[in-house]
Amino acid sequence: MWLPVSLNRPLIWAALIALPACIWIPDASLRMVAATVVTFGLWDAWRQVRKQRLWMRLSQDAMGIANDAMVMSDVENRVIAVNPAFTEITGYESHEMVGRKLETLAAPRHDKTFYQHFWSTLKSTGRWEGEMWNRRKHGDEYPEWLKVRAVTDKRGKITHYISLFTDISAQKARERDLRRIGYEDPLTGLPNRRRLHDLMESRLRQLRAGESLDIALVDIDGLKSVNDSMGVEQGDRLLARFAQRLTSHMAGSVVGRLGGDEFMVIRTTTYDDHDKWIANLRDHMSSPFEINEQSLRLGLTVGSCRAPEDGHDSGVLFQRLESALYNAKRLGRNHSLRFRPALDKQDNPQLALVSDLRAALVSGDQLELYFQTQHHPGTGELVGMEALLRWQHPRDGMISPGEFIPLAERHGLMAELGSWVIEKACAQQAHWANTEMPMLTMWVNISALQLFHGDLESLLATCLKRYRLTPAHIGLELTESVLLDERAGDMGPRLKALRAQGYAIAIDDFGTGYSSLGYLKRLPVDKIKLDRAFIRELPGDQADAAIVRAVLSMAEGLSLEVVAEGVETKEQCDFLVKAGCHIVQGFYFARPIPARELEQRWLPKQPPTRSNAMANAGP
Ligand code: C2E
Ligand code: MG
Ligand code: MG
Repeated sequence: MWLPVSLNRPLIWAALIALPACIWIPDASLRMVAATVVTFGLWDAWRQVRKQRLWMRLSQDAMGIANDAMVMSDVENRVIAVNPAFTEITGYESHEMVGRKLETLAAPRHDKTFYQHFWSTLKSTGRWEGEMWNRRKHGDEYPEWLKVRAVTDKRGKITHYISLFTDISAQKARERDLRRIGYEDPLTGLPNRRRLHDLMESRLRQLRAGESLDIALVDIDGLKSVNDSMGVEQGDRLLARFAQRLTSHMAGSVVGRLGGDEFMVIRTTTYDDHDKWIANLRDHMSSPFEINEQSLRLGLTVGSCRAPEDGHDSGVLFQRLESALYNAKRLGRNHSLRFRPALDKQDNPQLALVSDLRAALVSGDQLELYFQTQHHPGTGELVGMEALLRWQHPRDGMISPGEFIPLAERHGLMAELGSWVIEKACAQQAHWANTEMPMLTMWVNISALQLFHGDLESLLATCLKRYRLTPAHIGLELTESVLLDERAGDMGPRLKALRAQGYAIAIDDFGTGYSSLGYLKRLPVDKIKLDRAFIRELPGDQADAAIVRAVLSMAEGLSLEVVAEGVETKEQCDFLVKAGCHIVQGFYFARPIPARELEQRWLPKQPPTRSNAMANAGP
């Protein structure tokens, strides 16, 4: 063990000088004095050695119990001592390291400049701290967090180095996992939507003269029926297999999953064989998959485009791909369609409709809000209402929101359309506040796109201020898929903030989206609206009856209210009353109707007192 023994003590020097005097001085009494000095000197030296031994033992013990690896090295960085933590991390025993240069452990991850900087900092400031990669005895490389101090002598000359480090490979792996969660689809391990945007951008940036990108959006037809008939687990297995096959077939290309049953492939190429590439992809992916001892042959719908011909910007390309896929689906699925920039309006009724919708938004007079009331199923008491958008097309008549809302979402009109709805809903509430209409929470449907692209929170705040309303007047309906869409980021904090302000939040079409219910615990919501698919066959269908009862009891446990949607018959109503459901919405009580009709129905007949009505308005 390295330890300098200091001779810089007066007693020891005096003893050394007195030693010859003990022999040579003739005077006996002087010799006695010299002998006493030598004895004191020896005693002092012995005391010092004991102290140093104790110090050595203590520091050895300290090094032994430290979790951090410790290395002491000389001025040439040759190892003098290491502690057990060092052996544990690197695999090298102390005797294998002593005398060896510490840099022989370095992994070839850092370049010359890194080490130059390391040594110059250490020599000039006496310390260095940072991440460094080393190699263990059995060869694998690992990252460590290293602190080095230079030890100097009295004149300031470096004599030794003390290095302390911890193995940070576990921490790094955790960071990697966290990064992966944000960028990777957990089921298939493929890049997710966010990452695909980045990858597409980077491929676009790296395009050289003569190169193009072929991009395809591949949608598996009928995944839902696989889930329904074989179970979600088998559906997930199928997706994972599909991802594997697509990745191995498309070696060198980017392959990712956008969510659900949609995959994306991006290849950089110098060939002009887009259609052949797509045909080849389809061919390869349509040979059967063996799942659960069944052979499944999948239909694929593909929307594709080519950059830079069809766009230079990843946002535009994504939109065009989605539009191509959408149109391919309308051709009857299992089709491929390449985006055509010059798609003629007459060829494509969808695009004509989008253009009409744009015009409707500008003029505003073709759009209208209808209102469907919600009731207590037993008493019929009015407890709330939902605002539903209607489009009165000048030529085609009433167009259902089920048809034009997805179109608005695909063509970038949804934020504007959604804002129009919120503004009108607030204006209507403000108008009714000045009449004898019962004041109830008005539920408004919020599209995913309003959350990604629009600033929903500030729009709501502006409208409430403008119409002098409170958040209790407006409820927000979001579908399960919106709540869990990663494009919206983590919805938890946003919903919490909205709820803290007093808005009520409901999950719309509950039961049609996701199989995992974990999010119900996590997300702050007030109500769930049980989709009408579960109500339709009530009370006869045993399975639906069991589901409805289970949802009601689960909601009770979570202190959530349940609204049953699509209630059309008295029998359904009776069943729901018995099962403990307190709110229903459906044609049995009321269809969606314009504001005027609603007033006719509720204004003259039974104007309730305002205080009663507001009691119903809260979440
Ligand atoms: P939703 O939010 O689930 O709305 C309920 C839908 O069920 C409405 O269809 C309503 O007319 C219909 N409905 C209500 N009771 C019954 C019933 O007893 N039987 C049957 N068969 N149907 C019933 P609508 O108005 O066609 O709206 C369809 C969907 O369009 C809505 O589903 C909602 O997702 C969307 N939507 C409507 N208005 C808006 C809006 O302003 N913004 C957004 N983002 N989406 C909207
Ligand atoms: Mg709704
Ligand atoms: Mg619904």
